[in-house]
Amino acid sequence: IEMEMARLDRLNLVGQMAAGIGHEIRNPMTSVRGFLQLLQGRKECTSFSEYFKLMIGELDRANAIITEYLAVARDRPVEQKMRDINSIVEAMFPLINADAINENKNVRLDLGEVPELLLDEKEIRQLILNLARNGLEAMSTGGCMAIRTSREGENVVLSVQDQGVGIDPEVLERLGTPFFTTKEKGTGLGLATCYSIAARHNATIEIETGSQGTTFFIIFKIAPAHLERNQK
Ligand code: ADP
Ligand code: MG
Repeated sequence: IEMEMARLDRLNLVGQMAAGIGHEIRNPMTSVRGFLQLLQGRKECTSFSEYFKLMIGELDRANAIITEYLAVARDRPVEQKMRDINSIVEAMFPLINADAINENKNVRLDLGEVPELLLDEKEIRQLILNLARNGLEAMSTGGCMAIRTSREGENVVLSVQDQGVGIDPEVLERLGTPFFTTKEKGTGLGLATCYSIAARHNATIEIETGSQGTTFFIIFKIAPAHLERNQK
């Protein structure tokens, strides 16, 4: 246990340092991007316009990685409180739906009666957003995505189901590995974040996938105290 604690401390320190470096690197990147844009607009540079596009695109990708990384690197303590997961899902709905409408997709909520759980609201928002974004991105030809909550015995299950392309076995094996992505503009940090958030909530992640689409299940344990009260 002591060794495990030392390892966690070290991980935490590395995370905090990386978060700090991420913040610091952004400022110079922003000014480089600004100057590139300035040059891009000059007559004498028109023959290099393809290179400018590439350079700006690469900077944007680096920036996206830092943004997602900062969401993963915990530079703040966990703040878990008893919360209603349904209201967190409802609060995220407009944001997710806005993404969907733009691309001719739709999102359905199906929220069951569930007890409160010990949750860090900010992290659960991130978890829902990452899964929903992946779901929408998997449905290139449109479709419906459903976000559900339900009580299953001693668990509360949050699920995100898409009608997308499904996940190949080789990809499935590597899910959650940081920086693993099959997308041209992906960061490969979305699911890694989901797995670490789930772990901090003592929750497990299960996946069902096929040619009809994919469902991610996040399975939370109901707090024992709450369980007894509910069963009476
Ligand atoms: P990113 O979305 O930036 O690629 P993620 O960690 O969110 O990174 O996802 C990693 C990979 O897992 C994706 O590139 C994709 O191949 C696969 N994936 C994740 N969610 C889904 C999904 N709902 N349907 C199909 N593939 C998925
Ligand atoms: Mg993603």
